Amino acid sequence: MKIQEIALGTIRIPLVTPFRTALRTVDSINDLIVKITADDGSVGFGEAPPTAVITGDTKESIEAAIRGYLAPAVVGMELLDLDEIMRRMEKAIAKNTSAKAAVDIALYDLYAKMLGKPLYRVLVEDAVENLKDTCISANKEGELETDITISVDETEKMVSDSLRAVADGFGILKVKVGKGGEKDVERVRAIRQAVGPDVTLRVDANQGWTKEEAIATIRAMEDAGLGIELVEQPVSYHDFHGLQSVTKAVDTPILADESVFSYEDAQRIIEEHAADLINIKLMKTGGIHQALRICDLADRYQVKCMVGCMLESKVSVSAGVHLAAARNCITMADLDGPSLCAEDPYEGGPVYRGPKILLNEASGIGITRVPVEFACVARA
Ligand code: MG
Repeated sequence: MKIQEIALGTIRIPLVTPFRTALRTVDSINDLIVKITADDGSVGFGEAPPTAVITGDTKESIEAAIRGYLAPAVVGMELLDLDEIMRRMEKAIAKNTSAKAAVDIALYDLYAKMLGKPLYRVLVEDAVENLKDTCISANKEGELETDITISVDETEKMVSDSLRAVADGFGILKVKVGKGGEKDVERVRAIRQAVGPDVTLRVDANQGWTKEEAIATIRAMEDAGLGIELVEQPVSYHDFHGLQSVTKAVDTPILADESVFSYEDAQRIIEEHAADLINIKLMKTGGIHQALRICDLADRYQVKCMVGCMLESKVSVSAGVHLAAARNCITMADLDGPSLCAEDPYEGGPVYRGPKILLNEASGIGITRVPVEFACVARA
């Protein structure tokens, strides 16, 4: 089966409430969709959000990278030769991980469809018996359950957002902080008091603290007995030694997010113990191909990983769901993109029901309809 055509379109979906972190505020999803058609007419879909403040990728740069470099490099190639396709993409243009991820996801979708299997069965490391439960469900027995983001805001608003999420069935909240250390302790304390002891709280500072501020703030949360599961990316992504010092100084596990894009980033973080856990996002790794290498590394060192997403809708988030279902090192899911959307324009794919994400046996990622106008950028 050969890659016949690559086309691009845009999906726009309003969010339920604006998404606020230490880095940005966004009120709708406005993502690029890649559609790859094989010579037998079957199609694969990929998606990339412009996340300029994190990946450096804008809508324009993603489109230009696909149109000018990635699509010409792979169109006409034999799909079975997936490793060679990935090598060509890597050589065609440096960085541009979101653009690469969108094409990579569409290729894996198509590849799994060619094999007639759901993507997670294609990505699984060992025998089929080792598959994780196909329901990434809301329980505490080691199965995955997605958290939901609580945007950083005034404490009162964060408390009411947290209570609403818990009422909607979410048992894990990812609380965005990083806007003033002392105020951050108060935010988390108020949320803990409101939701009670049984809700899992993850804290994400999105690089918002200095090393000293991070250590003081995390210790204050520990001393106050706030029961934080982990703290994500306390300091700037380029402050490797700062991250390492924070990890050494506190008891709470530290999760590296913006500090880990590539396999090499993950390797250095793990080998020099600069963080305890790794957050894998397809938009940082450049797609599934590189994410699988990080999973292999994490398995070797027995490091647990989270699979996360940017502000993405169901196409690329579902690729993350398949990855999480296939790989045992992924024990945490931050795949709340579809839950943050005010509507679901797609047909097919995993079902997002509150904290539960249910996979099915449809081939590929499973999404059958993407209501977008596509324009061809490369044809064999
Ligand atoms: Mg994060």
